[in-house]
Amino acid sequence: MAPKSTKFYDALEVDPSCSEAELKKAYRKMALKYHPDKNPDAGDKFKEISHAYEVLSDPQKREVYDRYGEEGLEGAAGGAGGMNPGDLFSQLFGGGGGGDPFGFGGRGGGRQSGPRRGKDMAHSLKVSLEDLYKGKTSKLALQKQVLCGSCEGRGGKIGATKTCSSCSGRGVKIVIRQMGPMIQQMQQTCPDCNGEGETINAKDRCTVCNGKKVSNERKILEVFIDKGMTDGQKITFTGEADQAPGVVPGDIIIAVEEKPHDRFKRKGADLFIDIKLDLLTALAGGHFTIQHLDDRILMVHILPGEVIKPDEVKCINGEGMPVHKRPFDKGNLYVKFEVVFPESNWVSEEKLKTLEKILPARPKLPSTKGKEVEEVVLSAVDPMQQKRSQGDQEEEDDEEGHGHGPGVQCAQQ
Ligand SMILES: [Zn+2]
Ligand SMILES: [Zn+2]
Repeated sequence: MAPKSTKFYDALEVDPSCSEAELKKAYRKMALKYHPDKNPDAGDKFKEISHAYEVLSDPQKREVYDRYGEEGLEGAAGGAGGMNPGDLFSQLFGGGGGGDPFGFGGRGGGRQSGPRRGKDMAHSLKVSLEDLYKGKTSKLALQKQVLCGSCEGRGGKIGATKTCSSCSGRGVKIVIRQMGPMIQQMQQTCPDCNGEGETINAKDRCTVCNGKKVSNERKILEVFIDKGMTDGQKITFTGEADQAPGVVPGDIIIAVEEKPHDRFKRKGADLFIDIKLDLLTALAGGHFTIQHLDDRILMVHILPGEVIKPDEVKCINGEGMPVHKRPFDKGNLYVKFEVVFPESNWVSEEKLKTLEKILPARPKLPSTKGKEVEEVVLSAVDPMQQKRSQGDQEEEDDEEGHGHGPGVQCAQQ
């Protein structure tokens, strides 16, 4: 494709098809020749070649320039992206320090500057634990700004863009307001050009975008949810954010948001599940099942003789989450048991006696000899009363400076 204009290439005396290395070499040669310290009579020549090199050395800007000419760059050149030729020079030759070939000194370290970059767009994507386990492709629809295809982001006919006369192209105006005795100076976005610093005559405006240079487009992104991805993990779509003239589009960044699961909890690659187990199986062995995230049924054996105690945690190796990028490596599945005891009076007193023969013998009571013994029975707890006493308990804890519940203490042990 032939570039729209060769002005910048001509300034550096290179061919439009030249490589980045050739460009750099050409600029180096020209910059040394025309640097104002060395050649004070060269006038604006140094600025000119520096500007040309600033644009052409940036692949994205060079592409914009090739396609749209200098006009295409206007959005970028006026703003923070405009580079001081001295900065550019010092960046190339290592400004400020001993690497300076003529002792020009540059301007300090030279501020970091490049093409203006658009904002990144962040989205979150809620993903179920099942999908994080199995992997999935999700489609995400979003609205984004694209350069108007009809005017190629110029807003109107070629050459129709004029510097805004109202703000002299600055995009802002200073307004002075008097409020009583006070005079207030305020900076305001120029209403005539909406802060763009340039205007297009109504008759020359692009009819498709009405001079706005951009239009909205619905975009469907295919998001690959890899096995084992974690909450908060980011997936970047480079350069897919809003387009604007003379600006390198930012990225669309999708943050994975893991939906809470009703049965499993996840910690890294490990999974945790609570299982209610009947007393008979807990004592005498048997089976229970876990439906896994990929719908497999794990048939878990409790071997006869293996006793499961209330709140005990056991582990099933290799049945946790896959590790991201290593899906055949899996974490563990930890099972915490709640042992379900039978209700009161579940069996006759007669049959209870058979338990005495089977279960371990009762522990001996401490001696009551010589002590006063009072016979009492247990009664059900009034929930209100229990709440009150627990409240007291917490206050006591706070006073002692513990500040945390008993659960936390257990976990630390
Ligand atoms: Zn247009
Ligand atoms: Zn204006």
